[in-house]
Amino acid sequence: MIVDTHLHLNTDDYKDDLDAVIARAKKAGVKKMIVIGMDEESSLRAIQIAEKHEGVYASVGLHPGYVEKGNSAFVHELVSHEKVVGVGETGLDFYWQDENRSIQIQSFIRHIEYAMDYDLPLIIHTRNSFQEAYDCLLPYKGRVRGVFHCFSSTAEDAKKAVELGFYIGVDGPITFKNPKLILDVVKEIPLEHLLVETDSPYLTPMPYRGRRNEPQYLVEVVKHIARIKNVSVETVKQVTTQQAHHLFKLGGLDDEI
Ligand SMILES: [Zn+2]
Repeated sequence: MIVDTHLHLNTDDYKDDLDAVIARAKKAGVKKMIVIGMDEESSLRAIQIAEKHEGVYASVGLHPGYVEKGNSAFVHELVSHEKVVGVGETGLDFYWQDENRSIQIQSFIRHIEYAMDYDLPLIIHTRNSFQEAYDCLLPYKGRVRGVFHCFSSTAEDAKKAVELGFYIGVDGPITFKNPKLILDVVKEIPLEHLLVETDSPYLTPMPYRGRRNEPQYLVEVVKHIARIKNVSVETVKQVTTQQAHHLFKLGGLDDEI
C-alpha cells in the first residue's frame, strides 16, 4: 500500500466523481490519503470527506494564500475531530504574494503553536521562502514535527529541514522532464526522510500531465524515487508508508501491509 499524504479532494474538481476517484486510488494501492484544508470551508469539507470514507483523513489550516481572507481561529475548533491528523496547510509563499509577509509569518507561527498544543504534525507550504520558514521554526525545534510538502528548495535546505526533524514531501514534479532542484533533493536525502504525495488536483505527474491529478497516480512518483535511489518500488512504498503512519499516527499498519 501507499499513503497519499497531501491532496485536495475537497475542491470542486471532484464534485461529480469523488467516490470513483477514491475507489480508483484504493484499487491502485493508495489505501490511505490525507485531504488537506486550505481555509475554513475546505477544512470542513476535508473532515466531511474523511468521515464518509475509510482510510481518508483530514488536516485543517489556513494556507498562506488565504491569510487575507480570514484568520485561523477555526483550526482551534476543528482539530479535535477524530479524523484530523494534521495542522495545515500553512507556511509562507513569497512567490505569489510578497507584500504581506508579516501577516503570513504571524499566521504560520500561530499554526506552529496549534501543532504543538495539539500534538499534531505541521503541513508546511513554502515557495521562495524556505529560509524565512526555517527561521520561524527554529525556536520550536524538537517540540514540533511535520512535513515540508511539495519541497521546492535546494538539497542544502532539505538537509536543514531534516535537521529540524521534518520530512520532505515529494510529488509530481519529480516525474517532469527537468526536475531540477527536487532531483538533487531526492538524490541527497535518505529515503527515511521522504514522504510521497500527489497534491491532487494540481501537479499531475508524467505521463498524465494535462489532466486533473488523482491519488491513483501516486504510483508514478514512487516509481521515479525508486529509480533515482536505485531501490525497488516495493521498498519506496514500504518505507514511505511506515513514515506516513508514524508522522500522522494513522494506526493499523501491521494488519494492512
Ligand atoms: Zn496543497
